[in-house]
Amino acid sequence: MLKVNMSFEADSGGITKLSFQNEAWGEKDIYNCIKDMQLLNEKGNVTVNKDSGWVIIEHPKEVRLLDFEYTLKQDRKGLSSKTRYRPIINETYFHIFSHNMFMLPSYLGPNPDDVLNIELRWEDFPDDYVIHNSFGSQKKYQLIENIEKEEFHTAIFVGGDFRTFKNNVKNNEVILATRGKWVSYADKDISNLLKTTIEAQRDFWQDHTQKYFTVTMLPFFQERGSGFGGTGLTNSFATTVSNNKNTSIDQMVYLFNHELMHNWIGNTIQNENEEEQYWFSEGFTEYYTFKNIATHKINNLDANYFVDEVNRTIRDLFTSPVASSPNSEITYDNYWSDRHYGKLPYYRGAVYAFILDLKIQKDSNGKHSLDNIMQDIFKSSIDQNQKVNSAFFRKVVNKYLKEDISSFHKTHIIDGELIELDKMFNQFGLEYIPDTDVFDLGFKENSETYKVLAVDSTSNAYKAGLREGDQIVWRSIYYGRVDKQVDLNIIRNKDEKIDISYLPVKRALIPQLKRGIHNRDRLFNPNDDDKVHFLE
Ligand SMILES: [Zn+2]
Repeated sequence: MLKVNMSFEADSGGITKLSFQNEAWGEKDIYNCIKDMQLLNEKGNVTVNKDSGWVIIEHPKEVRLLDFEYTLKQDRKGLSSKTRYRPIINETYFHIFSHNMFMLPSYLGPNPDDVLNIELRWEDFPDDYVIHNSFGSQKKYQLIENIEKEEFHTAIFVGGDFRTFKNNVKNNEVILATRGKWVSYADKDISNLLKTTIEAQRDFWQDHTQKYFTVTMLPFFQERGSGFGGTGLTNSFATTVSNNKNTSIDQMVYLFNHELMHNWIGNTIQNENEEEQYWFSEGFTEYYTFKNIATHKINNLDANYFVDEVNRTIRDLFTSPVASSPNSEITYDNYWSDRHYGKLPYYRGAVYAFILDLKIQKDSNGKHSLDNIMQDIFKSSIDQNQKVNSAFFRKVVNKYLKEDISSFHKTHIIDGELIELDKMFNQFGLEYIPDTDVFDLGFKENSETYKVLAVDSTSNAYKAGLREGDQIVWRSIYYGRVDKQVDLNIIRNKDEKIDISYLPVKRALIPQLKRGIHNRDRLFNPNDDDKVHFLE
């Protein structure tokens, strides 16, 4: 457990509120992690209003300063992809996002632009205990000045048996903090990957202004397959990664490039409304992840990697059960609770970014690309604090296009209609194959009882004998993999045990770009390592 002791000015009205959200980042009941709240220096009453996210302290009116204390405790067992956004606290380390760790007086920062000053003292930890976070490394005293509330609360704090690796990128400090023993790669490989990625992306944005940046990488146990996740934060991003031989360094290349890209798209360049513009902040981040990796050949990944990733994104989008849902359905609730909605803005936005990139390069005869738009948006967010919304985005794009993008934008982003990619690829002179193998489970089930609700009669599942009404009692499914067999043990008519196996694949009319020289030369100029050219 961690004890947090805070002192702050009291409200002269006799009631001081602390804000602490019970629900955030898709997690509920965060108050389960808070114990033993008490006012230390005065007699007072402490009550909690979970719904409004307030700890309410009643105290004598004449009191100037309050000393308040609470204990943070992990409320779920272990660490997995499911618990990574909750406080992790055990004997050897802790890993907590700022908003789950620090209550803040609610009188601070009523306006989002208000800034606060916060002093942190890390006391009573063992000598060899590493203290590391978004604001510094190995500092027992930290003064964080002129910070916006949101910026402070979008941070990572870790401590314990972490190892830190320091790099220097054009005189700025970049630190990797990790723990545990990685099965698939050495600390050094990851530290080098971070350095290369940071250098490449800062060059792209022409932005080497950050003096301090850190990445945390936390291993978790996963028996089969691989899993990883990350989140972009103040001066940092935090990752949690499955630690087994199925987790490859190429997956880390993707993860690091995606999360670092959020340092600009999402962090500096902000959405006007979170989920409403995720097609931009997640989709364009995704697109620039592929483009940046291929342009800089990070870990030797090149144009073929770019083509593979664009193809995968197209397949993922076109096979999504919510592929054509309007943007208005990408709400907080849908996004965080439904896997399909959760991924939709990534796929939709990335495909849109790819097509826009091609359009701009075609209209400008290769003089401009989507890169110019990203630079313009970055500049507007710094100079004018401009937030991204559809109207602003269209305005910037239209500066580079012959035709108004508005109706294309409305059809494919706001209304969610799929883009006719074969037409587009013809237009841009790209070679493609009109159909492809896609992942197809072939049946629908009740997600709680695992009873089969429907089986597609044209699917491999049906051919293998699966029928509506079957009760699944054991299963092995590699989601998204067309080369891995699905194995099911089912019970039919209460006592008939049947084993069913099949490849979860079907042919679908989804265009896929061809690998190789033709498309490479249209998408990337092999003579120029620093710039990606489409259609010279
Ligand atoms: Zn992201």
